[in-house]
Amino acid sequence: MTSDIRIARAANKKPITEIAAMLGLEVGDILPYGHDKAKITHDAMARLSDRPAGRLILVTAINPTPAGEGKTTTTVGLGDALNRIGKRATICIREASLGPNFGMKGGAAGGGYAQIVPMEDMNLHFTGDFHAITSAHNLLAAMIDNHVHWGNELQIDTRRITWRRVMDMNDRALRDLAQGLGGVSNGFPRQSGFDITVASEVMAILCLSSDLADLQDRLGRIVIGYTWERQPVTARDLGADGAMTVLLKDAFQPNLVQTLENNPAFVHGGPFANIAHGCNSLVATRTALRLSDYVVTEAGFGADLGAEKFLDIKCRLGGLSPSATVLVATIRALKMNGGIAKADLGSEDAKAVTRGCANLGRHIENLRGFGLPVLVALNHFDGDTEAEIAALKDYCAQHGVKVAIARHWAEGGAGAEDLARAVVDLVESGADFHTTYPDSMPLWQKIETICTRIYRASHAEAAPSVREQLEQWERAGYGNFPVCIAKTQYSFSTDPTLRGAPEGHVIPVREVRLNAGAGFVVAICGEIMTMPGLPRRPAAESIRLDSDGQIEGLF
Ligand code: ADP
Ligand code: MG
Repeated sequence: MTSDIRIARAANKKPITEIAAMLGLEVGDILPYGHDKAKITHDAMARLSDRPAGRLILVTAINPTPAGEGKTTTTVGLGDALNRIGKRATICIREASLGPNFGMKGGAAGGGYAQIVPMEDMNLHFTGDFHAITSAHNLLAAMIDNHVHWGNELQIDTRRITWRRVMDMNDRALRDLAQGLGGVSNGFPRQSGFDITVASEVMAILCLSSDLADLQDRLGRIVIGYTWERQPVTARDLGADGAMTVLLKDAFQPNLVQTLENNPAFVHGGPFANIAHGCNSLVATRTALRLSDYVVTEAGFGADLGAEKFLDIKCRLGGLSPSATVLVATIRALKMNGGIAKADLGSEDAKAVTRGCANLGRHIENLRGFGLPVLVALNHFDGDTEAEIAALKDYCAQHGVKVAIARHWAEGGAGAEDLARAVVDLVESGADFHTTYPDSMPLWQKIETICTRIYRASHAEAAPSVREQLEQWERAGYGNFPVCIAKTQYSFSTDPTLRGAPEGHVIPVREVRLNAGAGFVVAICGEIMTMPGLPRRPAAESIRLDSDGQIEGLF
């Protein structure tokens, strides 16, 4: 099999103006970034806003193995296949973080013959959005320390500043730092550190804002820390919201690119899927919905985390209503959920597939619980055997769910036409979408509802100080926020080794954080890394330009 980057490089890309024209966009509606990327202008987005919306399809997955189950690849393959069967379909996915590319090999633009191009750009600087987000975030950080330096009129307690700095690089040396050393002219020393850009609340805000005015409003609501009297201090109190919006003005416009089969794809925003909601921007999804009959989008991690946040956070805050869900499964992930170790995945084991289907079944029930129709897409791998595929088909037949075998990775859109036809039927079957909990439910009860209904835990537990914090936020007017749970993606529980369909476990909530600008409360259950490090032999050691100026070693 040819490598992803070779396939991508051989792509017969169309000029981005032609892709825009396919969507009915005119030359003035786009801002080209070179020949194969463009942004959709603010004016065009405003003009489209009263158009009727197409159908939204969510691609999600069973609990993954460390390699990823092919959600992005399936999103791209399904989008291409829908276009092949004559539907006007657009894809919406996240932008990639630059830092992780230099650690392990692997991109975020799909794989095989189901990819988005130009994939090198998408995985590196792209249209500069993440640099803009980094700058806006760090401007606020600089203004905080500057405010303290010049007399601290707001009486900020420097021990209680929660706003850190960000950089789009895996760099463990920056996690915990002493800053402001070196004397009076360098400000007041304090302890702080860096997170990776995708973990920034500014990223989550950019992805949940409706327009520039809403963006500025949300940036202004960011809580950066607390005063000596323990009162929250916001970005607006520091006068930072206007300048931050100026830095984000271009980045807020969705990026248009194309698939290997020249179909339109929006790639915009990329919040973490643990401490944030993990899906592409609301403005990209809305714009795509107004320009096409079908929009295929992806949520990070498995359906317990990714789909739940997509539905309970993004769809709730953005007023979106999906028509159908596609649950991606692979034989190897089913076998791992059936108790097989990674090293033994090579040998046929249909019984393990059947056992692993308990995990699949749990996600099917959960998605149906949202009032959404669901079908299973088997992302086909070369080593899958007939007996293993039959085991999956039997399980799905018993549970009244359709399964489509998808071969887009090897064959492009042609390999996912069955899936596309099944999705069109599924959309027609109708949806009755509702979220897991109402806005009005108390914050702790929201956490418990997700833990019991989605993760099937017996209950959630937390120290009295955590419960007290939530009640304090309720009194401060944040009680109507949805909650964003950060926990391992490998299990319904907080133990990553507990695969399959565990129940009756306890979810310990260690810490809660307020994202007043993004508009959600984060509940942290387990260790969450917000600044990754590089491995012993980082991919960066073998990345270089060849004699033709082409990138080598990245994918
Ligand atoms: P996710 O979005 O679930 O994290 P991706 O779609 O990014 O997963 O795929 C993860 C990796 O697996 C990519 O490198 C991709 O090329 C590879 N992959 C996906 N589907 C297949 C397949 N059917 N056969 C072989 N490799 C695949
Ligand atoms: Mg993905």
